[in-house]
Formats: sequence, structure tokens, C-alpha cells
Amino acid sequence: MQKLTLPIAVLLVTPIISQQSYRIVDNDIVEGRGFRISQLKTIDWDDFANKPLRKPQVTLHVSKHHFPAGSAARKEIDKAVTMFNNTSGSTVRITVAGTDHKSKADLFDNNTSRNYFSYLDNTASGSFPCHNDGSTACSDDDDKGIDGWVMNACKYNRTYGWNSLGRKADHFVISVNTHCKDHASDITASDYPKADNIAHELAHAFGMGHADSWDSHQDFLSTMQGNMPTLSSFDKYYLRDIYPEETNTKKVELVVPNAIRVEYNNDIGYKNFYFNDDEGTSRKANPKELYLKDRYFWDCETNRSPVFWASYFNSGNKKIQSDKEVWSEIRLGKGTSKVNSSGNVVLSSQYHKGLEKGAQITWSQGVKVPQRSLSDLPFNRTLKLYFMVDTKNTFSEKSEDNNSINADLILRNTKADCSV
Ligand SMILES: [Zn+2]
Repeated sequence: MQKLTLPIAVLLVTPIISQQSYRIVDNDIVEGRGFRISQLKTIDWDDFANKPLRKPQVTLHVSKHHFPAGSAARKEIDKAVTMFNNTSGSTVRITVAGTDHKSKADLFDNNTSRNYFSYLDNTASGSFPCHNDGSTACSDDDDKGIDGWVMNACKYNRTYGWNSLGRKADHFVISVNTHCKDHASDITASDYPKADNIAHELAHAFGMGHADSWDSHQDFLSTMQGNMPTLSSFDKYYLRDIYPEETNTKKVELVVPNAIRVEYNNDIGYKNFYFNDDEGTSRKANPKELYLKDRYFWDCETNRSPVFWASYFNSGNKKIQSDKEVWSEIRLGKGTSKVNSSGNVVLSSQYHKGLEKGAQITWSQGVKVPQRSLSDLPFNRTLKLYFMVDTKNTFSEKSEDNNSINADLILRNTKADCSV
């Protein structure tokens, strides 16, 4: 397990509110308070690459019927493609083109020269080389031996054909199960494939495997775990290593993702929590409601001081030198103003002197919140909890959207007013 804690590089700043360590509500969480810095230095990326593409400059042919240019469904594809094309230091480039809808037989032609993104009716004639022919189930049923699928990335080698031997792949098809999406037959339906799922399948196409095959690197966030609206440091470093740019453009890129990777007890291993929702977990990572008692605010769910969680990356390929400070702050405000504005109360702030390229930070802190610190904020109204990160000495990243994230939080007068 790679688990580094580097308290020497970290200083905590306490403006009005004092911080204390408390046990978190979920006793299965192994991770302690403070920072965990995960570095990418020791990874052998070739171990992760499963039939990467021979040429990382690809044209992705999408159905004009289902995904017309400018439609909401097409924008999800474009968003996923942009995540890959914005990886500085890598030659990965995806160009999207419209095409007529292709049949199952067309998609998996034995002499293909194209990459497709398409709906697939697996009951049609022809063969589906990467999944059981005819299988239409959207989810697994182990008792019945059903292997479900919603989206699939299937790769082709110019010598050995579909889903077969060969160290590299030449083409791929990303297909979406028509039986799982109303959008397949009704282009006004809103259940079209979303950007995070499309990015996951594109990552398969570029040779990434699921996290369970990563051995000792389970602490890293990745699109391969799903529900990530951005590529992680881990994902970008994979692309940079397997598809390197010769004149390597160096860039700092501080990003706050929605996901937080937390170590659980040995039976479960690592698990993703989310800053701003409950997706995939029994609860979200941050408190939803706080109540007032004895002149302090307490978490409605735990009856303890609130514990906040967040993560961030330097997903760029340039180190932030130690003469620059990387600041992160958690704030609470009315949500009517920008995260950096003076209307928001700083609950906790901390900084690193410098940050390695590719570093992933996981941060958590119990914060003792006195009543007087939040005296300007109303009760029983949805407030915004913000987490933001920036480089203090340059503020070059200040205006970027991906440097902050927010979640809803409500203050209650008493424990009896809590709804969670
Ligand atoms: Zn997958």
C-alpha cells in the first residue's frame, strides 16, 4: 500500500475557528484526520496498459441520428472528449464526426478502419465480439449467470481481429445497450449516456483497466471507478506515459474533483465518497445539517463537531515549486456570491509549500464551529459549503471553474429541528 502522510510539508491556519480531531460517524473508515498525499512516481504504467491504441489520434464516428451536433446528448460526448484532449503532455487527440446509424454487423465488420460510438441492439443479427451475443440485460444477476452491460468498449487489432491477441489495438467501438436507454428509440428522452460514463469507456479504449487490477495503487481516484466528471491525476499520467508528447508542454493544473477516495477496513478496501451527493455511498462525505448546542454547531448525523472531507490534484505535469503556496479552504456562505468573496465564512484553511506534479491530496478535518463565527448566516435555509484550492503566490488559477466545488448545508436551531 502506498500511503504517505507528510505533515512536515503542511501548516494549518486557524482564523476564527479552532480545529479538533474527532472520530467520524462511520467506524469502518481507516483513514485518520489531516492530509494524505498520494504520489505517482512509483507506478509502472505499462503494467496498467491493456492493448493501448497504436495511434492515439482518433476520429470517433457518432450517429447523427441519436447524437446530432449541438444536442444535449452530443454535448455529453463532446465533454468527455474534451477531458482527454486537454491532457497537456500527451498526444491523445479525439475528433468527433457525425455518421449514419450503423447496424451491429457494420460496427463489428472484420475489416474495419473506423472508431464508432453507437447504440447497439444486441438481438440483431451479426456478432458482438466483446459480450455474449443476444444479451440485453442492463445489470448482472449472479444467481442466473446473467452478465449485464450498459456500455462497452470493444477493440480491434489489425492482424488478429476483434477482442483478440495483439499488444496494441487499432480501432474500437463504444456501444450503448439499446435495451437500457429510452433515448435509443426516443431522441427527446434524457437518459442518454453521460460524460463521466463516456470518459470511462474512452479510457478503456485507450487501454485502462478497472481499479481492481491495480495492485497497490488503490488510493488513487480515476474515471475507472466511475462518477468522475473530470480525469484524475492518475488518468492523465497514464495518458502522458503511454502516449507521450515529444515536446512536453509543462503546465500546473489544480483541480477539485467531486470524488474522495477513502480507505475502509480490509474487507472493503478503498471506496469513493462524494463531496456533494450520496452517489455510491450510504452517505455523502460532508455534513448535510448542523445544529446549535452550547454555543457550538454539531453535525445532525453524528452529534459531534462536523468533519469535512475533500480532495484535489495537481493533475498537470509541472511541479509547483516550494516557494509557491498551495492554499485550500473550506467555507460556508449563502450561495449568492462567488466562492472567494468576503461573504463566506472560512471554516478551515491550510496550505502546502509546493506540490509534486500529479499529486493527489485527500484532506479531512474535524472543525469546532462556534456560534459567533456563523452569526451572519440564516437558519433553516440551504447554504453552500465550498471547498477551493489555488496557488497563493500567483493566483493564476483563481478564475477557473474546476478549482472549487460546493454542496448544500442547512443550519438548525436545535437537534430536534434536524431532518437527517
Ligand atoms: Zn469499465
